Amino acid sequence: QAKVAGKNGFRFYSRAMDHAVERRVHMEQELRGAWERGELSVVYQPVCRTSDGRVVGAEALLRWQHPMLGMIAPSVFIDVAEQSGLIEGIGPRVLRTACNEAMRWANMGEGGERLFVSVNVSPRQLRKGDLPDIVAECLRETGLPASSLHLELTETAVISDELQAAAMLARLHSTGVKVWLDDFGTGFSGLSHLRRVPVDGVKIDRSFVADLQRDPDDLALTTAIIAMAHSLGITVVAEGVEKEAQYNLLAERGCDLVQGYWLSHPISATEFAHLLARRGR
Ligand code: C2E
Ligand code: MG
Ligand code: MG
Ligand code: MG
Repeated sequence: QAKVAGKNGFRFYSRAMDHAVERRVHMEQELRGAWERGELSVVYQPVCRTSDGRVVGAEALLRWQHPMLGMIAPSVFIDVAEQSGLIEGIGPRVLRTACNEAMRWANMGEGGERLFVSVNVSPRQLRKGDLPDIVAECLRETGLPASSLHLELTETAVISDELQAAAMLARLHSTGVKVWLDDFGTGFSGLSHLRRVPVDGVKIDRSFVADLQRDPDDLALTTAIIAMAHSLGITVVAEGVEKEAQYNLLAERGCDLVQGYWLSHPISATEFAHLLARRGR
């Protein structure tokens, strides 16, 4: 259904679009102050190394527990946070929380190995210019070693402005943190970019992992990504591993790290510490 507004203008809105816009505006209002009200929290999804099966770190993932609507997934609100600019307030808080909580379990790796925490950084945070300062401040305040912090940037954010991104990555690297390219493969940018933007790791998008056993193209692509990344000295992580068969395929092909429901869903920092304690015994 469409309505026409104005004499000269043909401004068509579908009702569905109206609702979508309304929902967005509403969500932005609700998201404002959500952190202060304690509605936002951070959960951690364990990351495991294929060579020895050990848990070597975790990815920090944001959660929104809305008082009326219940749990809202980041896929629903991250866009709103990004476009409204609210991510500029939320992002650094996630980073600080993750660094703080990682201090509790950073030394709990099997065999005394130091664990990492991996934090998602949005395109807007990357463009803003103060990210390296915020990162350095978080590390100083929490005492987390820089090498224990990984930042996940999306492929599209990095590719959209390669020159600026390369400069930003250099500044981030100078703080000692590692940088991973998230959702790798979805941007169709190809591996040639990896020569110009220096990253430490790529995370193969879970859409490739989902059909690994059935789709020979996905398997071929994944195998190619692993081989080429390794030839450039880059670590490969696969996300969205839900089945043992997927894990085995990835491990056989030398994928360094995996995460997914097969290993563990995202869990609280406390639950993660318990998981480590159990495995350590
Ligand atoms: P992502 O960084 O690619 O994170 C992985 C997503 O896959 C997470 O969804 C995780 O819960 C989900 N996942 C993990 N294992 C499996 C699996 O085996 N199967 C399936 N189907 N899914 C799995 P989540 O937590 O809903 O986050 C969605 C996206 O929201 C993230 O994708 C990330 O781009 C963004 N996000 C989350 N937290 C933050 C944050 O603090 N800051 C920013 N800027 N973005 C965030
Ligand atoms: Mg991520
Ligand atoms: Mg991802
Ligand atoms: Mg994703």
